[in-house]
Amino acid sequence: MFEEIKKKIEAIVKEARDEFSSASSSSQLEACRIKYLGKKGLLSEVMAGIGSVPAEDRPAFGILVNALKNSLLETWSSRKPEFFTRPEDASSDAYKGIDATLPGRIVRAGGLHPVSLIQKEVLGIFSKLGFDVVDGREVETEYYNFDALNHPKNHPARNVRDTFFIKNDVLLRTHTSPIQVRVMEKVRPPVRIVAVGKCYRRDASDASHSPVFNQVEGLLVDKGINFSHLKGVLSFFLTRLFGSGRKVRFTPSFFPFTEPSAEAAISCSACGGKGCRICGNGYLEILGCGMVHPNVFNYVKYDSEKYTGFAFGVGLERLAMLKYGVEDIRLFCENDIRFLRQFK
Ligand SMILES: [Zn+2]
Repeated sequence: MFEEIKKKIEAIVKEARDEFSSASSSSQLEACRIKYLGKKGLLSEVMAGIGSVPAEDRPAFGILVNALKNSLLETWSSRKPEFFTRPEDASSDAYKGIDATLPGRIVRAGGLHPVSLIQKEVLGIFSKLGFDVVDGREVETEYYNFDALNHPKNHPARNVRDTFFIKNDVLLRTHTSPIQVRVMEKVRPPVRIVAVGKCYRRDASDASHSPVFNQVEGLLVDKGINFSHLKGVLSFFLTRLFGSGRKVRFTPSFFPFTEPSAEAAISCSACGGKGCRICGNGYLEILGCGMVHPNVFNYVKYDSEKYTGFAFGVGLERLAMLKYGVEDIRLFCENDIRFLRQFK
């Protein structure tokens, strides 16, 4: 009985060796593997026969079957690498069109868009100062975009040549400032908010203008707020963003919704504020700001005798251009992977 099994195993080993060594493609080798080593292969069949082996022969049987298994595995694995390196195997059906000798493709991880990166940084700075981040609508009424922000009826921005009107008094917001009005209508002072979002203006697209851009807007209203608070907060913000070595300068300006109004600029990094080809006079204008106009408070029924506040607005693309040294605003929306890959 046992001798019979032994003979059978020897026959299997011999047959398997012949078949494995004559396999001439990876699919033939795989067929051999299934025939001998597969779940329903010959090895399994032999192992299943243990029930008919007398108890005293079983240890010897186990040794024999193990030797059979190892012998089959060895024969199979000694041939296996040939088919993954041999170029002629590329012509077999399983590997048609695949060159297994080519190096793998590099999968690059994605990253945030530079405008998203700067937005994250800006909101992070103001969150640390206790400002809440709020959101608003992109389609606004003329009331919230202009009237309530103290724009006179004949203000040039109300012109259809400057603003995208959807119908009569509905438009695509030209700044994020309507959010200030909507927040102040709902909340009593103190108010400390930053808002961010897309704005739309009928500007022709060039290196520094885009009909769509992102703005960050800030508003702080409380008792006793004055211009030195504005200077303090915005100087802190700009030096945080651009580095403590940069000087911040405020110059008088005009906006309908603030009085007095100012432009904040930072010293040029190329010349250190002395004046050069890039900056002209040594400073780069960054944002508009000012003390909230009493008329704006009247619209939202805040007592302008009791409360004062400051507001500011800044284009995120402008910040990103200055911070990352980008010279053309159009690069931000062209989706050129070579450009975007530089930011992480
Ligand atoms: Zn300069």
